Amino acid sequence: MNYAFVLPQAAVPVVGRKELFPVRRVYCVGRNYVEHAKEMGFTGREPPFFFCKPADAVVPVPANEVGKVAFPTMTENYQYEIELVVAIGKGGKNIPVGEADSHIFGYAVGLDMTRRDLQLALREKGRPWELGKAFDQSAPIAAIHSVADTGIMNKGAIWLKVNGQQKQRGDLTQLIWSIPEVISNLSEYFALEPGDLIFTGTPAGVGKVQKGDTLVGGVEGLTDLAITLV
Ligand code: MN
Repeated sequence: MNYAFVLPQAAVPVVGRKELFPVRRVYCVGRNYVEHAKEMGFTGREPPFFFCKPADAVVPVPANEVGKVAFPTMTENYQYEIELVVAIGKGGKNIPVGEADSHIFGYAVGLDMTRRDLQLALREKGRPWELGKAFDQSAPIAAIHSVADTGIMNKGAIWLKVNGQQKQRGDLTQLIWSIPEVISNLSEYFALEPGDLIFTGTPAGVGKVQKGDTLVGGVEGLTDLAITLV
């Protein structure tokens, strides 16, 4: 079978391996840390929910490099959200919480970049969030660490600095829904497949960035993610 043209496959480097992790889908969890839910105007007790970004919104940033991310159009309030990303290596539907860890390929540090002004306006009108969340280059991600190297991750600091100044700091123990619960719940709505990425939510401290800013974020035990807005 030939195609009329060839599409690039979105992919992310894997620490210590030559093969890239091919990206099929990008799922994101909303409001999964209590203090962030509060700063967005909620009590922090609502169950989290999901939205998607296209696979080609991923900007893979190799270790020891600073990724270049284009400042997006159509926003006056472009914001960062540092997140732990779970990479799925084994698919499944209706995955029980107790089996969810066995579906994990690995973990990485990601940024759920957001046109906050558009997202909030859409939210207010009950419209879908794509214009605020699913735009080009909205999902920078650092190299994936295999779960064989990290072990199952359920604690550890998560943080973000903008131009060297700390803006976000939390711990994976503060997740409202744990990673196994997220995988299990998501798999009731969608059949998960190898190549899926799940952004698991951001701690408090989200804020606005400008062209020229450098963002560096990390999760204890993983490769840091560094980008410059161009
Ligand atoms: Mn987010």
